[in-house]
Amino acid sequence: EALGPTVTIGEILVEIMAETPGVGFLEPQPLTGPYPSGAPAIFIDQVARLGGAAGIVGCVGHDDFGRLNIERLQRDGADVSAISIHPELPTGSAFVRYRPDGARDFVFNLTRSAAGQISLDDAAKALLDRAGHLHVMGSALSIPGAWDLIRYGLDRIAECGGSVSLDPNARKELLSSHEAAGQFAAIVAEADLLLPSGDELFAAAGCEGEEAALAALFDQGVSEIALKRGDKGATVFRHSGERTDGAAFQVEEIDPTGAGDCFGAAYLTCRRMGFPPDRALLYANAAGARNVTRKGPMEGAGSFDELDAFIANTSRA
Ligand code: ATP
Ligand code: MG
Repeated sequence: EALGPTVTIGEILVEIMAETPGVGFLEPQPLTGPYPSGAPAIFIDQVARLGGAAGIVGCVGHDDFGRLNIERLQRDGADVSAISIHPELPTGSAFVRYRPDGARDFVFNLTRSAAGQISLDDAAKALLDRAGHLHVMGSALSIPGAWDLIRYGLDRIAECGGSVSLDPNARKELLSSHEAAGQFAAIVAEADLLLPSGDELFAAAGCEGEEAALAALFDQGVSEIALKRGDKGATVFRHSGERTDGAAFQVEEIDPTGAGDCFGAAYLTCRRMGFPPDRALLYANAAGARNVTRKGPMEGAGSFDELDAFIANTSRA
């Protein structure tokens, strides 16, 4: 296992949340935020909070929303040297409102914001050159410049003997494009660890049915799959045939956003630190569950001390 940092690529945003449940943003209403956000940013913050070496390639605007993100990631110990600051475009943003049934309405400013401007510049190359692990967020494939960075990162990782993980949370509409589907398949083929949620397992495998999907992915060289099941916990499947189920922690869900990112970051970081799968899964379930108890997508990302306390004080289903 290569020793360099865990590196990810992609969108850095602020999230602004409606305070009341309801449908959309067609009338004035109380809002809370800005909170630092973006799936890759949440992921890398959780890695850093656990003491793992962590860095992100991203782009923010020359504004407070950008500063807020950089300061949070820096405070938590992430390498921010490859976050570029766009001179003109504003930092990406997402307004989110929960409907009473748990569905979400969004207003996004992503691809036409600084978040959509990531590119393979010198700082990005330098960070990817020293990476020991590349974590690919499927969501980042919506950004035009992301593929160049991912391809570069995959090649560097192959050269240094590092490892690759994928959260296949790519937008379904995106994968209907031939080009994006090919890129997605190439990442799956190089991944060691997959972190799908629900049906994303089938999207990653390119076939339906849990057993068939797992077999297809293991055939391609994936060694572990940690399948997220929301408030039902998660299961780790290994190439060797072992299966480990992890019960969910029983919590009051205040804000579900970011659970999957914290789960993945904790699982990967524990595995990179040499923990066995069952122990990594315990921390991953705890990290996901703890994060949903706090308002704000990365506000509940915990340190090992905080996760140990959470595990000791929270019952499991
Ligand atoms: P998101 O995309 O919203 O970040 P996800 O769909 O990728 O999330 P989930 O399965 O929702 O991932 O959550 C990841 C993990 O977090 C779950 O496997 C579980 O361990 C934990 N978790 C999430 N929601 C809850 C909950 N309500 N109660 C307990 N644990 C939860
Ligand atoms: Mg997810």
